Amino acid sequence: MQITAAVAHGVKAPLTLETVEIEDPRPGEVLVRVVATGVCHTDMAMRDQELPVPPPAVLGHEGAGIVMRVGAGVTRVAPGDRVVMSFNSCGACPSCDDHLPAYCHDFFGRNFSGRRADGSSGLRWAGQPLGGNVFGQSSFATHALCHERNVVTVPATVPLEILGPLGCGVLTGAGAVMNALRVGPRRSLAVFGTGAVGLSAVMAARVMGAAPLIAIDVVEARLDLARELGATHAFNPTRTSVVEEIMALTGGIGVDYALDTTARPAVVGDAVRCLAPRGVCGLVGAMPFGQALPVDGGHLMSGGRAVRGIVEGDADPHHFIPALIDLHLAGQFPFDRLITFYPLAEINQAIHDAETGRTVKPVLRMPGW
Ligand SMILES: [Zn+2]
Ligand SMILES: [Zn+2]
Repeated sequence: MQITAAVAHGVKAPLTLETVEIEDPRPGEVLVRVVATGVCHTDMAMRDQELPVPPPAVLGHEGAGIVMRVGAGVTRVAPGDRVVMSFNSCGACPSCDDHLPAYCHDFFGRNFSGRRADGSSGLRWAGQPLGGNVFGQSSFATHALCHERNVVTVPATVPLEILGPLGCGVLTGAGAVMNALRVGPRRSLAVFGTGAVGLSAVMAARVMGAAPLIAIDVVEARLDLARELGATHAFNPTRTSVVEEIMALTGGIGVDYALDTTARPAVVGDAVRCLAPRGVCGLVGAMPFGQALPVDGGHLMSGGRAVRGIVEGDADPHHFIPALIDLHLAGQFPFDRLITFYPLAEINQAIHDAETGRTVKPVLRMPGW
């Protein structure tokens, strides 16, 4: 079948809309008509080869849509179902057995290789195999081939076009707070970076009753939004010393939890300096391999402090995405406030606006929706 897809060509190169051939779903696969898909920072990292998905390839990993066809053996979804596509995993390794699929032993192969596990691609362009299966979906396209494991059925009571970001960015921020750090009532949290992931963390922390709940960013408009979404304090590091402010706010003790969404080493150093004894700093920003961090070892060791990486919010999408939708329907998790819609044809503008901080979470609507 012929579809329209945005093809990525390499570092910083604009994506181009192309007519692409997509295969019928193989056993265990699901063909989804995409309604809308979010743009995540990781898409830019893949385009720019910081996460090396070989070009040309179709990126996109926050897709929502309607199931068109299913391959042999698929029982979890059926044609007509409304679904969100999330990250992929193998289903057979120790992490998958423990319902922590973000730590799947084949996470990179299943999400970043641009191919199926058997090395084939479900996409062809100009007579050649085209990179696909990004996060088990490649949803910068009118249609996507995903897998029974990474597709989550969602209720008809929520507009499909807002739901894609639940598959990655929103799940990452909310899950870091709720699943990984397990921030409890009246525990203090500082969120460094208030893009879509950081603001999702702020919303989740408000649900959990965290206080004080501190947001840090260099973009004033994002700090305003963080306050509206539940932050009790907001600091701009270009105007003040964030470490000094946080220490003063906490009586010189520091915060119970810090969350870094920026992947900037100096920011991680500050986040760790702000930790109270037994405090934990979670790292959710995509950090390159080989990256050293300026962390004070004595400070870390002496107070029993910890730093830990968190992928996809420790979430099992099949449980966590419906839980976030329930919170949204209850009025407690207004993640739709982060979204700005663009038509698929304006994908490069959407990426530009995300990179400049003008838009928090771009969502691309497919033609006809
Ligand atoms: Zn696995
Ligand atoms: Zn993502």
